[in-house]
Amino acid sequence: MNVFVIGIGLIGGSLSLDIQEKYPEAILYGIDASEAHLEEALKLGVIHHKSTFDALGKAAIVIVSIPVDVQIEIIPKVLDAINDHALVIDVGSTKELICTVIDNHPRRRNFLATHPIAGTEFSGPKAAIKGLFVDKTNIICEVEKTAFKLQEKALEIFSKIGMRIRYMDSKSHDKHIAYVSHLSHISSFMLGKTVINKEKNERDIFDMAGSGFESTVRLAKSSPAMWTPIFEQNKENIIETLEEYINNLQQFKKLMEQDNFSEIYNEMENANYIKQILNGIK
Ligand code: NAP
Repeated sequence: MNVFVIGIGLIGGSLSLDIQEKYPEAILYGIDASEAHLEEALKLGVIHHKSTFDALGKAAIVIVSIPVDVQIEIIPKVLDAINDHALVIDVGSTKELICTVIDNHPRRRNFLATHPIAGTEFSGPKAAIKGLFVDKTNIICEVEKTAFKLQEKALEIFSKIGMRIRYMDSKSHDKHIAYVSHLSHISSFMLGKTVINKEKNERDIFDMAGSGFESTVRLAKSSPAMWTPIFEQNKENIIETLEEYINNLQQFKKLMEQDNFSEIYNEMENANYIKQILNGIK
């Protein structure tokens, strides 16, 4: 089984490692804009061979794992280059635009739109981790538009690497993911900015930062090259979440100014409900 991974970074590389383990007969080919990443991926055993677009005709599976702005240019070209039986899986963090862009492509049935809800704040092939997807959710959008046999092939892979599946239309995916992923990243980036601006002496931040600060600001280490196009593609939904979030922050500030600490207590107690929600989905 020839598996091509375009974008051999955190997500593409982690998928490549898991597929190698679960399908020992699979041959993994890497294609990447960065020659240094390709060399690194080869050295780390993340891929077996470096490759190019010209070789895509021999692929059984192509995983496209590059920033979402380039996905919309590259995926139609990948669909042009594959054979009629190949499966193309995209793993981008936004789904509506890519589903629209390829909707009328003659090989639409060879394409599966997915978003594995797994990751870290790191990028590149060095960040690839075996087992990253165990017990994680993979959201599949517009599954009915993918050929049934290719759906089955993809589901077998996702199941072998430990993922559970949720189906959703691409519009709902982008709306919900704005709250649970995109807003968390923005709030972490801006928390990082606020503290850096105030604490010019980084040594002080380092000495005083507890595990609370570290865990809340972790996402601020994420790659701007990956996140800027995600925010651009999901602009309307994100602005809506930001308005709600900013209202909540302003309300909190107002309660502080009014010395209304009993209401502040209530606000936090209500937010504690998140514990039950998160325990319920584990
Ligand atoms: P990553 O670690 O930065 O890997 C992406 C790789 O693609 C890099 O090696 C990059 O090279 C390369 N690349 C960029 N443009 C390219 C092009 N036109 N052709 C070929 N290669 C190209 O990023 P990632 O975190 O794995 O994210 C990949 C995809 O997964 C994105 O669509 C993202 O939205 C999605 N995703 C990410 C997460 C997460 O938590 N990170 C979770 C779920 C889904 P350069 O570094 O030289 O640009």
